[in-house]
Amino acid sequence: MSQVFVTRALPAGLLEPLDRFNTSVWERDEPIPKPELLDRAADADGLLCMLTDSIDRDLLDRAPKLRVVSQMAVGVDNIDLDACAERGISVGHTPDVLTETTADHAFGLLGAVVRRIPEGQSEVLRGEWGPWAPFHLTGGDLHGTTLGIVGMGRIGQAIARRASGFDMTVVYTSRSPVPGVDARRLSLMELLEVSDHVVVSVALTEETRGLIGSAELAAMKTSAYLVNVARGPVVDTSALVRALSEGEIAGAGLDVTDPEPLPADHPLLDLPNCLVVPHLGSASVATRNAMARLAVSNLVAGLDGSPMPARHPDGG
Ligand code: NAP
Repeated sequence: MSQVFVTRALPAGLLEPLDRFNTSVWERDEPIPKPELLDRAADADGLLCMLTDSIDRDLLDRAPKLRVVSQMAVGVDNIDLDACAERGISVGHTPDVLTETTADHAFGLLGAVVRRIPEGQSEVLRGEWGPWAPFHLTGGDLHGTTLGIVGMGRIGQAIARRASGFDMTVVYTSRSPVPGVDARRLSLMELLEVSDHVVVSVALTEETRGLIGSAELAAMKTSAYLVNVARGPVVDTSALVRALSEGEIAGAGLDVTDPEPLPADHPLLDLPNCLVVPHLGSASVATRNAMARLAVSNLVAGLDGSPMPARHPDGG
C-alpha cells in the first residue's frame, strides 16, 4: 500500500480520500521542522505539503520512493521543480480555486493603504481621534487612477477585472502578451513610471527574485502605493524600507514579506505607511477548503497514475 505523508493538520473530513493509503499526518498547526520532515518523507510515495516546507534535493535524495508531491498552494517556489522532473516526480498545485479570493485580498490591501485606513484605525485605538480636520490623513484615490499589474496571470487578470469596476486604467507587465485583457502591456520600468499604484502578482522564480529593487522603487511616483500579494522575495525588503522611509513612494500593503514571518522588531513594522498582514491572500474558509480538496485530489490521481486535476507543468 502506498505511503502518504501530510505535512500539516487539516480538517479530518478533507483527508478522507487518503484513507485507502497508509496515511500519516503531522498533526500540528505549525510547520514541521526540517529534520522531522526528512524523516517522515523518507518512506513516502506521496507528499501533501505546504509552502512552508522546503522540498529540495536533499529531501528528494532521501525519499527514493517518492512519486507525487502535491502542494496546497499555487506558487511552488519552495519545491525544486528541476530535481522533481529529473526523478519523474509529478508535482500538483492549486491554481484557479484561489484566484478570486487572492484578488479580493489584493484589492482590500490596495484600498486600505491608498485611503490610509490602518493609520486611521491606529489613531482611534491610541485614543487620539481629534476634531475633523480638512487635510488630516488624506490619501490617494482608486477611481480614475492607473493601476500597474506586475504579472498578468490568473490572479493579475482577476485584479484587473476588479480595477475596471473602480474606473481604473490598467497597465501590465509579463513576459508574453495576455490576449483578451483590457490593458496595455508595458516594460516593467514604463509601468512603474506611469502607474499611480502597483500590484505585484508575479510568480517567484530566479528571474523575478528581487524584481522590485532600488531602481524600480525610484522609478515609481512619490504618490504611488505598492501592494505585494505574490511572494516576499520578489520585492527587495531593504530597498523597500528605504523607499518608504525616505518618501520615495507613498506606502505599501504587504501580504507577503522577506523574511516570512517578519520579526516583531523589523524596520518595516515601524513605518506608519506600511501595512503588513501575515500571508492571508487565499485565506477564506471556502477557498482554503477548495485548496485542500484539490491538493488531495491531485495526490490521489498522481498515486493512481491518472491525470492530476492540476499538475504543475514543470514537475516530472
Ligand atoms: P500564474 O497564472 O502563473 O501567473 C504568474 C504570472 O507571472 C504569469 O502571468 C507570468 O506571465 C508572470 N511572470 C512570470 N515570470 C515573469 C517575469 N520574469 N516578469 C514578468 N512576469 C512574469 O499564477 P497565479 O495563479 O496568478 O499566481 C501568481 C503568484 O501569486 C503565485 O505564483 C504565488 O506565488 C502568488 N500567490 C500568493 C498568494 C497569497 O496568499 N499571497 C495566493 C495565491 C498566489 P509570463 O510567463 O508571460 O511572464
